[in-house]
Amino acid sequence: MKTDAFALRHIGPRENDLQHMFKTIGVDSIDQLIYETLPDDIRLKAPLNLEPALTEYEYLNHIAQLGNKNKIYKSYIGLGYHPAIVPAPIQRNIFENPGWYTAYTPYQAEIAQGRLEALLNYQTTVIELTGMEIANASLLDEGTSAAEAMALLFDVRTRDQKKNKVAKFFVSEEILPQTLSVLQTRSTPIGVELVIGNHEEFDFSDEFFGAILQYPGKFGQVHDYASFITNAKAKDIKIAVAADILSLVKLTSPGELGADVVVGTTQRFGIPMGYGGPHAAFFATKEEYKRSMPGRIIGVTIDVNGNRALRMALQTREQHIKREKATSNICTAQVLLAVMAGMYAVYHGPKGLQYIADKVHASAVTTADALNKLGVYQTNTSFFDTILVKADAAKVKAAAEAKEINFYYVDADTVSISFNETTSIKDINDILAVFAEATGKSAEKVTSLTETVALPENLVRTSDFLKHDVFNKHHSETALMRYIKKLERLDLALNHSMISLGSCTMKLNAAAEMLPLSYPNWNSIHPFAPIEQAEGYQIMLKKLEEQLNVITGFAGTTLQPNSGAQGEYAGLMVIRAYQKSIGQEHRNIALIPASAHGTNPATAHMAGMEVVVTKTSENGNIDVEDLRAKAILHKDNLACLMVTYPSTHGVYEASIIEVIKIIHENGGQVYMDGANMNAQVGLTNPGHIGADVCHLNLHKTFAIPHGGGGPGVGPICVAKHLVPFLPTNPVITTGGDSAITAISAAPWGSALVCLISYGYITMLGEEGLTSSTHHAILNANYIKERLAGHYDTLYTGEMNRAAHEMILECRPFKANGIEVTDIAKRLMDYGFHAPTVSFPVAGTLMIEPTESENLEELDRFCDAMISIRKEIDEASADDKNNVLKNSPHTLAMLTTDNWVLPYTREKAAFPLDYLHENKFWPGVRRVDDAYGDRNLICSCAPIEAYMEN
Ligand SMILES: *Cc1c(COP(=O)(O)O)cnc(C)c1O
Repeated sequence: MKTDAFALRHIGPRENDLQHMFKTIGVDSIDQLIYETLPDDIRLKAPLNLEPALTEYEYLNHIAQLGNKNKIYKSYIGLGYHPAIVPAPIQRNIFENPGWYTAYTPYQAEIAQGRLEALLNYQTTVIELTGMEIANASLLDEGTSAAEAMALLFDVRTRDQKKNKVAKFFVSEEILPQTLSVLQTRSTPIGVELVIGNHEEFDFSDEFFGAILQYPGKFGQVHDYASFITNAKAKDIKIAVAADILSLVKLTSPGELGADVVVGTTQRFGIPMGYGGPHAAFFATKEEYKRSMPGRIIGVTIDVNGNRALRMALQTREQHIKREKATSNICTAQVLLAVMAGMYAVYHGPKGLQYIADKVHASAVTTADALNKLGVYQTNTSFFDTILVKADAAKVKAAAEAKEINFYYVDADTVSISFNETTSIKDINDILAVFAEATGKSAEKVTSLTETVALPENLVRTSDFLKHDVFNKHHSETALMRYIKKLERLDLALNHSMISLGSCTMKLNAAAEMLPLSYPNWNSIHPFAPIEQAEGYQIMLKKLEEQLNVITGFAGTTLQPNSGAQGEYAGLMVIRAYQKSIGQEHRNIALIPASAHGTNPATAHMAGMEVVVTKTSENGNIDVEDLRAKAILHKDNLACLMVTYPSTHGVYEASIIEVIKIIHENGGQVYMDGANMNAQVGLTNPGHIGADVCHLNLHKTFAIPHGGGGPGVGPICVAKHLVPFLPTNPVITTGGDSAITAISAAPWGSALVCLISYGYITMLGEEGLTSSTHHAILNANYIKERLAGHYDTLYTGEMNRAAHEMILECRPFKANGIEVTDIAKRLMDYGFHAPTVSFPVAGTLMIEPTESENLEELDRFCDAMISIRKEIDEASADDKNNVLKNSPHTLAMLTTDNWVLPYTREKAAFPLDYLHENKFWPGVRRVDDAYGDRNLICSCAPIEAYMEN
């Protein structure tokens, strides 16, 4: 056996554990288990045609060599992406730390107080810099954040506006090109008409419900929008402002100018450009719109002891739970990047941010002045970081590229130059030398930065920001390091124990997959750099697309969508474009089984489709006759079916081939939600089964870490007839011949983290991937059998097997007064994160162990679940004072001198032996969700401030 095979590191169970596992399950071999699990007619007949696996060492060499093909030029391209300095302690202690990047979305607040606090810091930073009342954490990129702003303003139109079908949205021509493209994609299906123009010529007619402005403009001009906003308000036109976060340190905030929503990206707060992402976008608005706000809001509340605690606010109002009434489908966001950006603000504090913004501004002014002396003129009348220069673009480009410098070339005689935190005096002299060469003159050397300011006096920021303690005391590295560690210790991540979240596939995120993210020649490229400078990226992305084509059995892939839900949206929009191309534009019905993830109906609604829900039969499967009847009923208008496979019930439904046939016969396309692809890879695939398009969650199946709720990558893979419609980008052309407009801001979405999935597939190869699927199914069925007799599995396949996950019935425990949440909270005392709670069936737990967990960990988890089952039997509905209801137990509780609970401390906190060696302490007692929703606070105000209300 080759002991350096990556598969041996990735897959948990050891060879000598297998016999025991088989015996427990009641099979002789993996082959028998797979035979009993997967319907035969969907199995692939041949192995996936992938290149032989590389070892970790070989892969790291390969990726280093490929990285050398990326040319790292100095980037002054701007357009929403800037070189940024990732503070080394943030890089090492967060970005490269599994304690942070392997955590899940903080649904279980008691074991997530660390990242919740970090996200509250992020929200506070956004709220204060934008001058708004509330902010979320976070959205996917500036383009989609702007689209969410448009959708929110459309949604909150006044009754009059709705009655009069007011549907126009003004877009300033100063908007970033990629933002415009995303707005175009997102406006049409919801019935919004975009009107693009010069804001100074806008007529404020009452056909408009809203407008979006860019601040500063795309090539740097700082416009004074005050009178525009005043005039708009008078006509009940709501205003969104897309703002540059760093400029807001110097400029009057959009909130002070009267904006209703402010969006943008926090990339330049210490996040690498990464050839497009991932970066956290922000979204800030007024309190009155909180119920319509997309994404996740972190809020302050109290625990059962009345102590301050944090949690995700308004969870039951979360957009995707509104299903077909939702105006947004955001689920996975950009949590890890928001954590980093918030920490950048903590580390620099208000003074540090001032210094950085001043320096960036001074670099721009100094360069403009020096160019002026050279006879090269700059046309922005006021600017923060970007100057617009009149010069022969072709000559400048030739001279610049020879010096490894990128500018943005607006047209034949206009060059845009954006400055950033990394710009030095030497860089400025290099820029001057380029222009000297292009104009045949010689430039005087600059030796210091000017103090002249090029901002309009009435737009200079006078309000202060980030006064809170947290932004003013972690400015030495020791202090920051300890603060990060303190937060990290509050969070349960994969580096502590297994996280068996069904449908989320919390598998290993291998170090070898992660390392290249820190290599400068991978993380320092601007997404709009000339494509020939990104050869390494282009090779890697193309190979990954091809690997995903092979794995899904499809003909083409786009990596652009930044989450699974964005992939769903891309898929439906591609279907729409295809149907339009064959004269079937009227098709607008999406059939969606009742068990679907909430993002499915939300997405269909955003794509302008009408959702028709199909029934689930008693055994959890799609009710084929109901589906047939509805497909036939709607056959003239059927656009598609959205189906998850294996289903969210953890079963490979044998009827899938029949289901797909029904949809095709009635003129529809089949969209497969690939969140459960971990149960398919190497055994079957959507192409083979007959679907037309699927999305993949690279952050589930393909090893990108969840990062506490993002980043994600949600590529779609499509059959041949849909390839021409894959999305493009307005700056760098990509996608198909009849491409739809952009889904995301960057041409290849979050290209940097695509490296992880590329590494995963390249190091596992065909055998390792298939073996991973085998072991995912093996581990799930092992848990199912070990828990049999203690917990019932709700649904199984025809031969009584689970797929890669299973749903445990917990509703009967209500007789003893125990809810499924009590089990989730009690698991914390045992050192585990709960499985998925109440999805897709209320009152149940959905467990997905993944292939990466070994037998010892599976047993530890099962022991905990069985021990809890005994505690449930001991509980009674009449007496709430028991270990389950009081869970989780904190260290403060356990060490109190006044222990009055009717069970021992040992039972409370150390119910099983292994806990003596490895105990995780929840940060707070059970949080009060209702209290937090009634008193929504989403910034770092002290608790007393809101306890008075
Ligand atoms: C996770 C998931 C989604 C949404 O994916 P995101 O990346 O969170 O947007 C959609 N469908 C199913 C079944 C999922 O499990």
